[in-house]
Amino acid sequence: MEIKKLLRTKLGFFPTPLYELKKLSDYLNGPRIYIKRDDLTGLAFGGNKTRKLEFLLADAIASGCDSVITGGAEQSNHCRQTAAAAAISGLECHLVLGGEEPSLPQGNYLIDKLLGAHIHWTGEFRKGEKIPEINDHLRDFGKKPYVIPYGGSNPIGVYGFIEAMNELKKQMDEIKIQFDHIVFASSSGGTHSGIILGNEIYQVGSNLIGIEIDKAEDEGPYIDRLLKLLNLSSEFCGCKKIFTKEDIVLRKEYLGDGYGVVGDLERDAIQLLAGKEGILIDPVYTGRAFGGLIDMIEKKEFSENENVLFWHSGGTPSLFTNYNLLGN
Ligand SMILES: *Cc1c(COP(=O)(O)O)cnc(C)c1O
Repeated sequence: MEIKKLLRTKLGFFPTPLYELKKLSDYLNGPRIYIKRDDLTGLAFGGNKTRKLEFLLADAIASGCDSVITGGAEQSNHCRQTAAAAAISGLECHLVLGGEEPSLPQGNYLIDKLLGAHIHWTGEFRKGEKIPEINDHLRDFGKKPYVIPYGGSNPIGVYGFIEAMNELKKQMDEIKIQFDHIVFASSSGGTHSGIILGNEIYQVGSNLIGIEIDKAEDEGPYIDRLLKLLNLSSEFCGCKKIFTKEDIVLRKEYLGDGYGVVGDLERDAIQLLAGKEGILIDPVYTGRAFGGLIDMIEKKEFSENENVLFWHSGGTPSLFTNYNLLGN
């Protein structure tokens, strides 16, 4: 299937590595577990947002903007990668962050500052709710900001993951493997939408399992917002398929005590993958998603000779904050 072409600017290093976690697979007595290392995209500690930003920043530059605005939590990986993308592109970066200014900058927020981002603190609003306000304010000052939504999740950002599936399909053909399942964290919906669309467009043929990360439902159930973004993106790229909720697998049982609250699931998952494979995952997203995968394996949801791909979407800078990862 041919899809609409979009401009893309190089921000990261692709393809990201794909390989088998042999020790872990043996330890768990199957299935065969593989990993896609998007923590290694190379953009200021990497992560899945690099893929979206290659399309979003290309659009920002083409529209003649002089700055970008986006928003998220204090430890937003998306904001950190946006700050780096803006620096590379010579654009001013404004970040609308939830919470209050911490006395000691750590993790992602420390990196935002090093990258020269301008920070606007917005208290209880951690999903970019105040982006329009800051946008108006910057326009009053004669700036031409480009607005990137929370998580970079709009139909342009989704392209990053449609093309990620194109990249994955080529790697699968090279090493002659078919993935029965792909497991990944799903939060603002851009990654999940792109993976579903790319699975369709590039005929990857995998069962896609999104692990829901964020319990907050003030803007309605996540599945509804995800389905809306998916269909908007499908139309935008020219795929034309109209999806229903039946096309989406979203596992809600790993939400724990909510967004960014670390429990045993995340702690054990982080320590297991570090100890068996020397790979670090993060407390908020990949720790939860990988914890979910381990739980599904323990519940024998996969047969021992199936191939399961875990998509490492990044997030490692938030390891260097005050999450209680050792559980003392
Ligand atoms: C943003 C993020 C996700 C979720 O991706 P969405 O496109 O927002 O659903 C997963 N993992 C990490 C590390 C992230 O930063």
